[in-house]
Amino acid sequence: MSKTSIYGLTFEQLSAWLLERGHKKGRASQVWEWLYRKRVTTFTDMVDVNLDCLKVLSENFTIQTLTEHTKQESADGTIKFLFALADGDLIETVLMRHKYGLSVCVTTQVGCNIGCSFCASGLLKKDRDLSSGEIVEQIMNVQLHLDEVGKGERVSHIVVMGIGEPFDNFENMVDFLEIVKDQKGLEIGPRHITVSTSGLAQKIYEFADLKLQVNLAISLHAPNNELRTRIMKINRAIPLEKLMPAIDYYIEKSNRRITLEYILLKDVNDQKEHAEELAELIGDRRAYVNLIPYNPVDEHSQYQRSEEKTVLAFYDTLKKNGITCGIRIEHGTDIDAACGQLRSKQMK
Ligand code: SF4
Repeated sequence: MSKTSIYGLTFEQLSAWLLERGHKKGRASQVWEWLYRKRVTTFTDMVDVNLDCLKVLSENFTIQTLTEHTKQESADGTIKFLFALADGDLIETVLMRHKYGLSVCVTTQVGCNIGCSFCASGLLKKDRDLSSGEIVEQIMNVQLHLDEVGKGERVSHIVVMGIGEPFDNFENMVDFLEIVKDQKGLEIGPRHITVSTSGLAQKIYEFADLKLQVNLAISLHAPNNELRTRIMKINRAIPLEKLMPAIDYYIEKSNRRITLEYILLKDVNDQKEHAEELAELIGDRRAYVNLIPYNPVDEHSQYQRSEEKTVLAFYDTLKKNGITCGIRIEHGTDIDAACGQLRSKQMK
């Protein structure tokens, strides 16, 4: 039987697992402390944990299943990691530096089936879902890298926006959130975590009911169905009539504003009339529009980057219409900047 990553267990799951095997209640706290606070990478390093307990853990779990394949570092401090999974598949994880802290963008699936027409990640179809352990390990590997550099830096924010549709791997993604939020472990505040979805409405309702208090971002990218279906084929199955009520439900349940992601594609969705239509669609919802200048991808040559003046004009039109918005600061422009680009290059 192949072993799974111990990072995939929530604290409650680990406690129950150990209790079932006759180990005292406090054992899980000890192991958790070694994993997330002292950050050891072998069971034998957990020197004060009972030997029988270590034996049963090491017979059933591994600590490290990911290995670093490639690392690209940008002049602005962004680092793109390409990790190899135990079965050889490659995934991408990105560390970004902001004024407010260090944020990591994690991948949730090997490839993606949503097939957004502008996306480098979706060029490679979904091979499989990542386990919760494989998602947590991305954070741990980046944190171990920071530990090694030795400046005492800590991952403080997480964005679930890498390769894959997080809501298409719902349970593992939710376990991942429970693990990284846990105050006994990495203790990353829910308000410092953002999950991004292409708009799987049914899952948005389920996610809202969990009341995890994390931020939700919706990849909107168009102000009407016709254009959105052209850019994102998921809109055919889940049009705005289904998506917008789900968004309203999340806002109401979480009592938080929602982020609407909008990639600006030259002459496709970046004109004044699009901004006006977007403002009308949003109305008085508690929403923040994140305008994202497009990073061109060779395979999607039909899309170009909007000119800077067009981006600013779009922003101004939204503002004038009372919409809270901003333009995303770009990271890692001197390395393979588009999400999934590093991985798709390596896979060719
Ligand atoms: S943008 Fe996200 S959901 Fe769409 S294809 Fe790319 S990875 Fe999948």
